[in-house]
Amino acid sequence: MTGLPLLPDRTCGGCVECCRYIPLDLPELAKPTGELCAYCIDGAGCGVHAIRPQTCRTWFCVWRVVELSDDWRPDRSGVIVRPDGLQDGEITLYVIERTDFLESDDFFDTVVHWLDNDIRLALSIPGPVGTYPVRAVVTDYLKQAITAGDRDLFDRLVAYSLDSLANHAWQPDGVVARYAVGETPS
Ligand code: SF4
Ligand code: SF4
Repeated sequence: MTGLPLLPDRTCGGCVECCRYIPLDLPELAKPTGELCAYCIDGAGCGVHAIRPQTCRTWFCVWRVVELSDDWRPDRSGVIVRPDGLQDGEITLYVIERTDFLESDDFFDTVVHWLDNDIRLALSIPGPVGTYPVRAVVTDYLKQAITAGDRDLFDRLVAYSLDSLANHAWQPDGVVARYAVGETPS
């Protein structure tokens, strides 16, 4: 949950990436990491919107609460900016797809802005469906490129960080899919 007010003029549009990449393990709805929720209409949104679980009503990515450009929308950028840690000065960029956006001026300028404001930055990637994502804090690692004013080095360090994370030994998240929203508990 973000605990922060949503931007009034912003909607998820066709993005459904949290319904795919954020695991749930609730009595009425469990889905492993990376499995698109069976209630989701891909590219459109929730098929059980009126009765969706409370967690789905309160979890939003940071793109819904902070003035990032439209290009940051997760299904376009390939990056879900996770809300956890935000209020403690930490941002996790959950890179669900490696797109050209990661080499854009928008991405670079935003990361520089965050680091200049003493925000700790982590990169994270999902593994195969049903495994925990991996994550590493990269604040100081990326700062060396920013301090040196070396944009090419910054791009290389981001890519190298993601390559390193991808070599991780993936651990099962243990979530067994269960779709029982709207069913009467027995
Ligand atoms: S990842 Fe963000 S923009 Fe995409 S559906 Fe979830 S809350 Fe909406
Ligand atoms: S119930 Fe709806 S909002 Fe919740 S994960 Fe499934 S599709 Fe997304």
